[in-house]
Amino acid sequence: MLKLFNTLTRKKEIFKPIKKNEVKMYSCGLTVYNYGHIGNYRAFVASDILKRYLEYLNFKVKKIVNITDVDDKTIKGSIGEKKSLNDFTEKYTEAFLADEKMLNIEKSFKYPKATEHIDEMVKLIEGLLKKGFAYKTEDGIYFDIKKFKSYGKLSGVKLENLKKNVRVNNDEYDKENAQDFALWKFYDKDDGDVFWDVKIGKGRPGWHIECSAMSSKYLGKHFDIHTGGIDLVFPHHENEIAQSEAGNNEKFVNYWVHNEWMMVEGKKMSKSLGNYYTVRDIIEKGFSPLALRYFYLTGHYRSQVNFTLDNLKNAENSLDRLKRIISSLSEDNKDSKNAENSKNANKSYLKEFEKTMDDDLNTPEALQVLWKLVRDTKAKGKLKTIKEMDKIFGLDLLKKEKVDVSAEVKELINEREKARKEKDWGKADKLRDKIKDLGFQLDDTSDGVKVSKL
Ligand SMILES: [Zn+2]
Repeated sequence: MLKLFNTLTRKKEIFKPIKKNEVKMYSCGLTVYNYGHIGNYRAFVASDILKRYLEYLNFKVKKIVNITDVDDKTIKGSIGEKKSLNDFTEKYTEAFLADEKMLNIEKSFKYPKATEHIDEMVKLIEGLLKKGFAYKTEDGIYFDIKKFKSYGKLSGVKLENLKKNVRVNNDEYDKENAQDFALWKFYDKDDGDVFWDVKIGKGRPGWHIECSAMSSKYLGKHFDIHTGGIDLVFPHHENEIAQSEAGNNEKFVNYWVHNEWMMVEGKKMSKSLGNYYTVRDIIEKGFSPLALRYFYLTGHYRSQVNFTLDNLKNAENSLDRLKRIISSLSEDNKDSKNAENSKNANKSYLKEFEKTMDDDLNTPEALQVLWKLVRDTKAKGKLKTIKEMDKIFGLDLLKKEKVDVSAEVKELINEREKARKEKDWGKADKLRDKIKDLGFQLDDTSDGVKVSKL
């Protein structure tokens, strides 16, 4: 049985969905004013692992990931580049989806954009005004957190610290203090041409309201799982709960799943420290995106990890080694001298694997089980078992690398094949060495010659 650590109750709980066999989950996506950094994608890979494991357990999963395409940063960025908000955010939205794909993050059911759900937000705000949870001021409509009795239940933030009559209008929040927050910001000339002229006043939404409005639209007012980075617990998720539960009169989310911080070179990642990397920066440095995915999996999602380029290099080496061992397994099968190509997966290894994943998605231990399996010379059904595990790891462990070879190398391979047919082993060996010098290794298998890059 799957156990998840629930931030709301601060303990590991057995996961039970609201509706049998179905899971509805929401993950806070990217604010599309820039390319996502490696800290963002740690959260996205963590929620992908959760989704994949739920599917492995035969749940039907509906996952929603939002796109924050209107807030202080996106508006500032678009004005800076003299572009429309939409043109500005479109580029980063596309990049986000492309980066997800490179990291083998499975596609979500939908990626709703904030700007396309203004009506839903307005409706929710109207309801909050009507019920007395919200009030109007000169510059916007605010949520009155004193009115929501259980404010602070997720993050533990204390209302005693509440400063009198202090409201927060921008998205940069004082993390120490609970404050009334903006649901709707009335138009200000700094917003350029970004506004919606609606019943509650000309303006634009606050950051938090979009997730409340879009999650209930696609998943219902009460759903199973909400994920995000630990930095979102307060104020973002605390505020989502307040808006949703005050507006809908029902419990919002059953399980809150948060991943820990990722440090980079021992420090919090920041542009000014020079330790800030986007996924694209990592690829430009010559790493494969799946090496980054492997790196994420080597740390439990709820523990702080320290990213360094050396650690990433180690992760890449491990993944390469793993893939090399696995590809040699498939060759052995052809001779069926080992029982690796057994029809069934290895039950005892799968059980061990599931035990680690059931325990709050312990991917580092799950990887250990995989390593133990590939090194076990007596285990049966290895390939089938690896295939099952890779449904969650998403590391393309069984994918054959396509090797691009030049016309010259192709010619040499053909020549060598001819020599082999003529049983001219001396010539064949010489040609193999020549090909090796050009950077390719040849392995003769029952399926023909296999070429791999050295
Ligand atoms: Zn959110």
